[in-house]
Amino acid sequence: MHTVDLILKKREGLALSREEIKYIIENYTAGKIPDYQISALLMAIYFKEMNDEEAKDLANAMANSGDMIDLSSIPGVKVDKHSTGGVGDKVTLILGPLLASLGVKFAKMSGRGLGHTGGTIDKLESIPGYKVELKVEDFMKQVKDIGIAIVGQSGDVAPADKKLYALRDVTATVDIIPLIASSIMSKKLASGADAIVLDVKVGHGAFMKTEEEAQKLAKLMVEIGRLSGRKMTAILTGMDEPLGHKIGNGLEVYEAIETLHGHGPKDLVDVTIEIGAHLLKDANIETDFDKAKSLLRNALKDGSAFNKFVEVVKAQGGDTTILYQPEQLLSKKIEEVHANQSGYVEDINALEIGKAAMRLGAGRETKEDQIYMEVGIDLHKKIGSKVEKGDVLATLFVRDKGINEAKNLITNAIKIGPTKKEVVLIKQTIK
Ligand code: URA
Repeated sequence: MHTVDLILKKREGLALSREEIKYIIENYTAGKIPDYQISALLMAIYFKEMNDEEAKDLANAMANSGDMIDLSSIPGVKVDKHSTGGVGDKVTLILGPLLASLGVKFAKMSGRGLGHTGGTIDKLESIPGYKVELKVEDFMKQVKDIGIAIVGQSGDVAPADKKLYALRDVTATVDIIPLIASSIMSKKLASGADAIVLDVKVGHGAFMKTEEEAQKLAKLMVEIGRLSGRKMTAILTGMDEPLGHKIGNGLEVYEAIETLHGHGPKDLVDVTIEIGAHLLKDANIETDFDKAKSLLRNALKDGSAFNKFVEVVKAQGGDTTILYQPEQLLSKKIEEVHANQSGYVEDINALEIGKAAMRLGAGRETKEDQIYMEVGIDLHKKIGSKVEKGDVLATLFVRDKGINEAKNLITNAIKIGPTKKEVVLIKQTIK
């Protein structure tokens, strides 16, 4: 086979076979196909698209390019979840311990944040001592022993995706639905869970700006997982405003702790419970969806989910004392943003709020940037909130950078007007 023939085939709009996709991925990972040929292929895919079969073959070829984690020695159904990324999304920090406290095995490999979206691994690193890197044997042992481990993705999981994603990032070929679906699913397939819930975000703070695009992506990912024998569900949830109130690494751990004590914001709790109920069902712990939701709500109220969080932090070497004094996770230096008119909050542009948090140092503009764990934003208002002129819209936990820029971004991101709007958070479920 010759790579140039495969580029030409795609340029002509023809579908690549499983063998051809396997050839490309194996040889690209091995360094035998240069970046310039793969760049041309990616651009041909952008213009001529890929069908579902090709996307499935690509996901499998990338999953097989490195370690395939075999969780079968751990008894029970192992579950995983994935969010396509948003602002203030700390669901994993709550959902993992919550499910584990109810006997579900939660084996999670998470990523770091880049740009305006945060990453679970950075958030966990705001807990002093928390080790995000575990050997695969230790990861499995911890899931077996306490029902949960949350670690960074090892370099050997889907290395082809890592290489390809870096190339897509610099060749304007990230926003292609079959490539996004196969990229996400390659990592999910390689991570070994039996049941997976995908939280596909829709709105101006998300990758997918419209419900139609999000639905297309969700359906394709569900299909790829199902064809590989996984129990799959996708939910489409709104990312028109940040999830919860707090954005920034330490701040999000703080809000996760509040939620694990039963005092979480409604939108964050609702998304967590919705995902959790699907996974409780898939794990055969409670097959009635409404009963599953009640079990989850009770575990947030009775302290069992919080206790499991303490257990996982301890198992991964973190300082558990901070979990009882979470205000220590926040910067002592504070600034405020005030409302310049009265009315209702009509819109909070999540993308702009994410950028404001990044300017304060909570997120990275490039992979090399250093981040500050104690900085971020606490939004006091959500869409639909009533506001009087002069009210505090947001408290900023700051260090030494980006303060004025962040304040301007937040002021412009929060639109106040005469209309009281309702947000539909959970838009669709796709099985
Ligand atoms: N997240 C991924 O893991 N891959 C993509 O292609 C896009 C978002």
